Amino acid sequence: MFSVFVLPAILLTKIFWAAWNLVARWPALKIIVVLGHTKCGAVRGACDYVEMGNLTALLTKIRPPVDDESTVNENRNSGNDEFVEKVLTINVKRTVRAIMERSTILKEMIEAGEIGIAGATHDITTGAVTFYEDTLIIKS
Ligand SMILES: [Zn+2]
Repeated sequence: MFSVFVLPAILLTKIFWAAWNLVARWPALKIIVVLGHTKCGAVRGACDYVEMGNLTALLTKIRPPVDDESTVNENRNSGNDEFVEKVLTINVKRTVRAIMERSTILKEMIEAGEIGIAGATHDITTGAVTFYEDTLIIKS
């Protein structure tokens, strides 16, 4: 049996981290895929520094990727598809790193080759899922 645990790239709350201990014990788990997606309202909102009530805390978590993006000099907002895509990529990669840094259990399992981890983006227009090779850790 091959089981894939897919999670949105943006859900980094405390409750979410606590749930990792349960995720790690799911026997069928083989790979964690941090999956971002194009045309993401949350990423776009963060690019525009939008504040939206309860969503503000969530959007604040995507702010570091927005600030990390340093190659786009003009139109650093959601109207610029190139900028949004670059922020999305940074967010996915940061999330993969954060999982490794913040969950000792998962890090150990990944390093022991018990499970794999990968970051990817789902293009919701074409349906294509592109994996970032530099985030891929799959040992066998
Ligand atoms: Zn989204």
